[in-house]
Amino acid sequence: MKLILLGAPGAGKGTQAEVIMDHLNIPAISTGNIIREALKNGTEVGLKAKSYMDAGKLVPDEVVIEIIKERLAKDDCKNGFILDGFPRTVPQAEALDAMGIAIDKVVDIEVADEKIAQRLGGRRVCSNCGASYHTEYKPSKVEGVCDKCGGPTVQRKDDEPATVLDRLKVYHEQTEPLKDYYAKKGILAVVYGAEEVSETSARTLKALEG
Ligand code: AMP
Repeated sequence: MKLILLGAPGAGKGTQAEVIMDHLNIPAISTGNIIREALKNGTEVGLKAKSYMDAGKLVPDEVVIEIIKERLAKDDCKNGFILDGFPRTVPQAEALDAMGIAIDKVVDIEVADEKIAQRLGGRRVCSNCGASYHTEYKPSKVEGVCDKCGGPTVQRKDDEPATVLDRLKVYHEQTEPLKDYYAKKGILAVVYGAEEVSETSARTLKALEG
């Protein structure tokens, strides 16, 4: 199955991508994670992306399209994949079509902006292994220390309040039109995602059946 998870930053795409990955045994691909990894490794792509990312802006289409092309060409994508955070603009969706990739389903996870701001403001991630926590909903056992690897948990620069507002604006302007794009193709499923994670997971898996 070839899937796309759509939704605002902080709607829970990453968490649901992992749930689907375990359920269907296909890789979850996050362009955000690939870019952060590139940044950590000091590669050219990472350097190109840094200023955009820190400001909550989208990295230019041609950069992310190249990243996704390379990633989808790998062997583990042969039986399907879940895209988390790509496409984020209409030209990116068109690029996917131009690659001849037929997407089976697009799941749009809907969460109101106020809830998003609250979620992202409390999010902490391990700077070593990438595990995700929340100061209120899912705190690590010891504050500032990752349960999984003992690495330091930090607030992503783009989760700082002012940047979150910018990211939401960018989402509404540039990414939300994709709902229409995929609704017209008849492959959009909308899932309400503001409640418990387990509830959203149940709805997401159900949406994949239909
Ligand atoms: P994420 O982890 O998905 O929230 O992505 C973090 C940041 O990476 C975004 O705010 C963008 O700066 C950049 N990014 C990730 N995916 C894309 C994409 N498909 N198009 C443009 N920028 C992206």
